[in-house]
Amino acid sequence: MRWQPTQESGVARIVRGSAVITGWANYYRIAHDFNRIANQADYHAFWIGVKALCRRYDITTAQCIKRYAANNLGLHIGEAGVLKRAQDVASTYKQAAPEPYDPGTGCYLEDADWEEVVRRPESRQRPSRMDFKAWTLFRDGNRCRHCGTRVTWETSEADHIEPVRNFASYSQATRLLNLQTLCLPCHKEKSRID
Ligand SMILES: [Zn+2]
Repeated sequence: MRWQPTQESGVARIVRGSAVITGWANYYRIAHDFNRIANQADYHAFWIGVKALCRRYDITTAQCIKRYAANNLGLHIGEAGVLKRAQDVASTYKQAAPEPYDPGTGCYLEDADWEEVVRRPESRQRPSRMDFKAWTLFRDGNRCRHCGTRVTWETSEADHIEPVRNFASYSQATRLLNLQTLCLPCHKEKSRID
């Protein structure tokens, strides 16, 4: 807007400046924090525009603002020369809502973290059947992973997803990633198919 031949009109400068602002805003509208950055860009564009018009018409900043930026309408020369604003371009950044929490089914730790909890006592001794069943049940939120029925320690089984015979040892098969909670009917059914 500023560094142009002096014969270029004020309106032409504002139109060209507007093209840059609109192009920039359309390119960056996908960005996180776009609205804040657009606001800053508009601030700078406004003052660059004011300076350009001051030079073009050889007037003071105060005169320029009084003439071309009255009533808080931004920089404008009549209706043809309105300096566009980046903040008028709608942001397309979508902030994902957090996963809703479903009571009784929640699992805060990643499976890998659970795995470590179970592995730790193993260095001293093999984890008892009761340990991994309790961890599996807790991780699965006291629900059968097949039919979704609520279960307790008594009404469930910790099932090996891949059969134990596919592993080199019972210990290798008995990892949380290979375990699932099943209700007794589902477990019975799966054992029959296996
Ligand atoms: Zn079931």
